Amino acid sequence: YQAKAEGGGFRFYNPAQNRYTRQRLSTLQGLRRALGQGELLLHYQPVLDLKTQTLRRMEALVRWQDPERGMVPPNEFVPLAEESGIIQELDLFVLEQALREAHTHGLEFSLNLSARNFHDPHFVELAARLLQQYPLGRGRLWLEITETALMLEREKAIYNLQALRNLGTRIALDDFGMGYSSLAYLKHLPVDLLKLDKQFVAGIGNPRDEAILHSMISLGHSLGLEVLAEGVESPSQLAWLRAAGCDLAQGYYIGMPSPSGGGGFAFTTPLAPEP
Ligand code: C2E
Ligand code: MG
Ligand code: MG
Ligand code: MG
Repeated sequence: YQAKAEGGGFRFYNPAQNRYTRQRLSTLQGLRRALGQGELLLHYQPVLDLKTQTLRRMEALVRWQDPERGMVPPNEFVPLAEESGIIQELDLFVLEQALREAHTHGLEFSLNLSARNFHDPHFVELAARLLQQYPLGRGRLWLEITETALMLEREKAIYNLQALRNLGTRIALDDFGMGYSSLAYLKHLPVDLLKLDKQFVAGIGNPRDEAILHSMISLGHSLGLEVLAEGVESPSQLAWLRAAGCDLAQGYYIGMPSPSGGGGFAFTTPLAPEP
């Protein structure tokens, strides 16, 4: 619906669209306030190692606790933050918060970076400063980026990626299979992990989706990367992925995103016993 609202071309007066614009403005105002007044917080979702059946790390997912609207999911404000430029402040907040919380837990963790920040050298510099301020140990912080983010200005993207990787972070390609980047491009990318999009996992049971999953897993392994499946919602999906040789998995069946609460992280369901 973004393209519809933003796209150029013919425009007719449209009361519904006007309401939509006003709503976006008020969301944006609210978001500015949220950043200033500490209404943003992180939920964490566990990543399960399918070989050892243990917790490998946590993914930080931003939430907005709006006093009026309640808990607002990122899809309702991250795109708006990207368009308005406050995404830099937002992702830096998330980075600092996660670095702080990870320090007290001693876990590996992972966070999402907006495409827009990834192409901003100033962001990379500020992020680097935070990484030095909260030393976590090499390889303990993962940055998740999407294929589409990397497609634009490829050289610059790779340069920034490498800069962050040189600081000891590791890089995951998020929503893999959903973007438009060519597979040939993958060989140039300094990434460590492929996260297969949940759409494919939802299709387990369908031979075409299963064929695609098999080939993405083997592609990842051939390139020396680990492969993670997102959106695991059932024991049968989990079993299928384990049998297919997938390394890691995440999803509501394994554990819901939840506040860290300081008390360690629990899986929502007991892990399925080895077959
Ligand atoms: P993502 O990084 O691909 O995160 C996975 C999303 O899938 C999360 O939604 C998660 O709650 C949801 N999910 C996890 N397990 C399941 C499952 O079994 N089934 C289904 N249907 N969904 C599942 P969430 O938290 O609403 O985040 C949506 C997106 O917002 C993220 O997608 C990420 O692209 C973006 N995002 C989240 N936090 C941040 C942030 O701090 N900064 C930026 N720039 N983007 C963020
Ligand atoms: Mg992610
Ligand atoms: Mg994803
Ligand atoms: Mg996503």
